Amino acid sequence: MNILKKELFLPYGIDGVVVKVNDLAMENELGNTVKIPRWSIAYKFPPEEALTVVRDITWTVGRTGVVTPTAVMDPVLLAGTTVKRASLHNPDYLQEKDVRIGDTVTLHKAGDIIPEVGQVILDKRPEGDDQPYPIPQYCPSCGSKLVHVEGEVALRCINPECPAQIKEGLVHFASRNAMNIDGLGPRVVTQLIDKKFVKKNFRSVCT
Ligand SMILES: [Zn+2]
Repeated sequence: MNILKKELFLPYGIDGVVVKVNDLAMENELGNTVKIPRWSIAYKFPPEEALTVVRDITWTVGRTGVVTPTAVMDPVLLAGTTVKRASLHNPDYLQEKDVRIGDTVTLHKAGDIIPEVGQVILDKRPEGDDQPYPIPQYCPSCGSKLVHVEGEVALRCINPECPAQIKEGLVHFASRNAMNIDGLGPRVVTQLIDKKFVKKNFRSVCT
């Protein structure tokens, strides 16, 4: 049986195995270190990887104005789910990985849950693509000039009337962990903003 190939026929997912000595006398002989028994050892499986192609990089504005890139990829089956999006976190991360549209990338799941881009397969980069992906200078929601706050990796929109920030702020305010307002979810909030019933940044109203 090859444990690495997960030929265990278990009805649930596992992320590794613990191998133990199956003999009490031997266990006693091996004994323990200060921290761990010498007769038992845990092995984690290397994360499952998949290859896919990046088709787009989208930018979303969060409630605090932080603008975050996301890779949109050809859907691929990875560790039990179909994945087609992965956060690229911030412009520094994106530039460090040098992800470009059309690139073939490796994907894995951090902690077996959150999809993450591993690396770009440079051999598969489309020919003639010699420019890194350009970091946007203007907010995708309101068009204001984005700023790089000193000492921060994040790119921010600092327009207090930015619709994306107003929306995310209000969704957060109404969410279960905050005011828990039943029925005021992202869809209703979007309608309220589209109809211009909500115009101001929620934070500036509160403070
Ligand atoms: Zn904005």
